[in-house]
Amino acid sequence: MLSATGDAAAGLGKFLCEVENDLRIAKATLGGELGFSWCPRCWPPELIATDLDGQLNCPVCGQVSYEQAA
Ligand SMILES: [Zn+2]
Repeated sequence: MLSATGDAAAGLGKFLCEVENDLRIAKATLGGELGFSWCPRCWPPELIATDLDGQLNCPVCGQVSYEQAA
């Protein structure tokens, strides 16, 4: 019984993780269709915004703006 409960919990956690990944991919796909860009370094893709200087800025890795500025 304990092991069945553990399996169910593990299965639920895996399911939620997959749903989260699907949501992030869907968000990135939708963002691309709306004219946003997504980070080439992150997976699942993370939408990136353009700051006031016109540089791309990823909220997850923050690497894009530095590479663009170099
Ligand atoms: Zn990133």
